[in-house]
Amino acid sequence: MQRLRLEIKGAVQGVGFRPFVYRLALRFNLPGWVSNTSMGVVVEVEGDIDVLRRFTEAILKEKPPVSILQDIYSEYLEPAGYTNFEIRRSTGGSKEAFVLPDLATCGECTLEILAPDNRRYRYPFTNCTNCGPRYSIINSIPYDRPSTTMSGFSMCSECREEYENPLDRRFHAQPNACPECGPHLELWDSSGIVIAERDDALRRTAAEILEGRIVAVKGLGGFHLMTVANSDEAVRTLRSRKGRKMKPLAMMFPSFSAISEVCRVSAAERDILESSSSPIVLLKKLDHESEAVHISELVSPSNPEYGIMLPYTPLHILLMMEIGEPVIATSGNLSDEPICTDEREALERLSGIADLFLVHNRPIARHVDDSVVRIFNDSEMILRRARGYAPLPLSMEEEESASVLATGGYLKNTLALSIGRNVFTSQHIGDLETPQAIKAFGEVWSSIEALYNAHPDIIAFDMHPDYISSVRARESQLRGIPVQHHIAHVFSCMLDRGIVPPLLGVSWDGTGYGSDGTVWGGEFFHIADGTVKRIAHLRRFPLPGGDSAAREPRRSALGLLSKLYDDPVKYLPAGTFSIEESDIIKQMLASRLNSPLTSSAGRLFDAVASILDLYQTIEFEGQAAMALEHAIGGIETEESYSVEMIQIAGEPVIIDWAPLVKGVIMDAAEGISNGIISAKFHNTLAVGIAAVAQRVGEKKVVLSGGCFQNIYLLGRVSNMLENLGYEPVIHRSLPPNDGGIAPGQVMAALFSESKK
Ligand code: ZN
Ligand code: ZN
Ligand code: FE
Repeated sequence: MQRLRLEIKGAVQGVGFRPFVYRLALRFNLPGWVSNTSMGVVVEVEGDIDVLRRFTEAILKEKPPVSILQDIYSEYLEPAGYTNFEIRRSTGGSKEAFVLPDLATCGECTLEILAPDNRRYRYPFTNCTNCGPRYSIINSIPYDRPSTTMSGFSMCSECREEYENPLDRRFHAQPNACPECGPHLELWDSSGIVIAERDDALRRTAAEILEGRIVAVKGLGGFHLMTVANSDEAVRTLRSRKGRKMKPLAMMFPSFSAISEVCRVSAAERDILESSSSPIVLLKKLDHESEAVHISELVSPSNPEYGIMLPYTPLHILLMMEIGEPVIATSGNLSDEPICTDEREALERLSGIADLFLVHNRPIARHVDDSVVRIFNDSEMILRRARGYAPLPLSMEEEESASVLATGGYLKNTLALSIGRNVFTSQHIGDLETPQAIKAFGEVWSSIEALYNAHPDIIAFDMHPDYISSVRARESQLRGIPVQHHIAHVFSCMLDRGIVPPLLGVSWDGTGYGSDGTVWGGEFFHIADGTVKRIAHLRRFPLPGGDSAAREPRRSALGLLSKLYDDPVKYLPAGTFSIEESDIIKQMLASRLNSPLTSSAGRLFDAVASILDLYQTIEFEGQAAMALEHAIGGIETEESYSVEMIQIAGEPVIIDWAPLVKGVIMDAAEGISNGIISAKFHNTLAVGIAAVAQRVGEKKVVLSGGCFQNIYLLGRVSNMLENLGYEPVIHRSLPPNDGGIAPGQVMAALFSESKK
């Protein structure tokens, strides 16, 4: 006879863990107790050592699907003489326990809302301990009903019974609700007048959407704008009202089978689509048109992929069943503002975009956008990390005594916070370009500190002097550590994959402020022996107009060509610039006024896209580079241009793109297709990266930065590195783009602290 004590850390609260242990103890006939504590869950059971061992194995094997066990500490003690098994009251505030992300509706709840004899038939706010809202309704922890946005609803007797019964699926399901006692729907016209309620509101919404109307639908973490995806007219109207010309629009599909009508879906992609995170998954369009499902050309123009998700709340399931065909489900905002969460605010901000508003009275505690994911080599790569993922932490190798708060970058901003071993990254906030985004940045900052009751010692931020995220960080009272943008990218990937130095970090993106005051973006770092050394970078060229070059690939092209030719305009497609424009830019370049130097890989992509006349000006970040990647299509070629390395003693190696750009121009003049030129261009960059890897000789090669969202480049580089015996390390759980900067800043700050 022994007493076993287990202390379990991780995502173990609000996931049905205690009732699971309760049922397990009954099955093994073990007396004892289970309780939530400030760090997780504690279990004590008494019995035969053999049975205790099998009990522990069963915990590991059968744990609730949405729980995550991070650490399990076990010890054997003298028996205490327990006679029955009980769920004890929670002790202490749960500050270390994880807050869970919002979880897609589970199979059991889905069956209930579809069963006419169930009391939750067609009830859009059904949930249980295995599914439903979490992060989007939590005001503070411990995670109990009074600290959620459900505090205003008191449970009816039937719901209360479920909530209190350890054998019920809804035992301590904090947002538990039913049509009797829970939130309900309303359909409003554009002036906020109620035109339908409850199930009528839902049916009416479906009918209006089918008519081609644009409806703002309040969901889990904010509003979507929805309309039918098969109508050019509806999509065109939405695009013009939202001010979004070309950027692909996300869609929600009624079923997996409908998705497979229009996309090629692998088993790994299907798993992610149907997972409890239920993100938007980027999927390859099929070559042929489907007869059953039509999607307007305007949804994802000149792009070989769609961004698709499945319904993830009972509201979406019911709505999609009613509509029966794919809808656009794009964030309810103006371009690049944070997603709208409050119905009154929505009326104001989305007036002029939405014809109608489907709203409900369960408040949203914080905005949580849909996450965006792609599958690369059968593994998930998160491109936008929000619903379904945030705020789950990534854990570091070791416990750190200092707590670091990081304020992230400028585009795709997120914040991050480290406590002990864990690094928590906030949900996606967005580009800090609008007052709304800056306000959201401030809200997420205070909420992430409050949620974990954190008192950070250090604040880490981007070196850029003008980023609002950096300015705010410098204004704080905390000790500041500025972190170079591209170094943050590399550390982000290291945290993501649990990689420690020595290693080579390849950090390629659009732009970031370099520690020498120039604009970086094609960087290589050797991280070893406690230091980070910039070991190589792409050759620099001037960016006429500075920041405005990011929106005009033709400016990158002109800057780059000015390093090669006396009359660079001649090498650009006719009409790229007017005579006046090119005169101004030539003067700019000659006087070096407002023409910062850059080693950016992203701008090199832009320049080549401009030379090939894919895009001269763009609407969204990465648009020209994506077009260049997509130009390759299915072309397979091993050909490349040549790469030159310039080595000056004591300086980083310079990778010279001159032979590459001249090769592109020659091929284009000979009428070689853009696809082949682009493939050769990508191949050349991969050769360049592999060449640096061979010079440095570190086995691990970390690939980070927005350029590694480019699947062709990523595939090419990682294959080449593997063939040469290196170990390419690529992102999975943190975005390779600037959404991953904040956790990278935390890691880089801790790295620099550890040297002291
Ligand atoms: Zn459920
Ligand atoms: Zn109820
Ligand atoms: Fe970046």
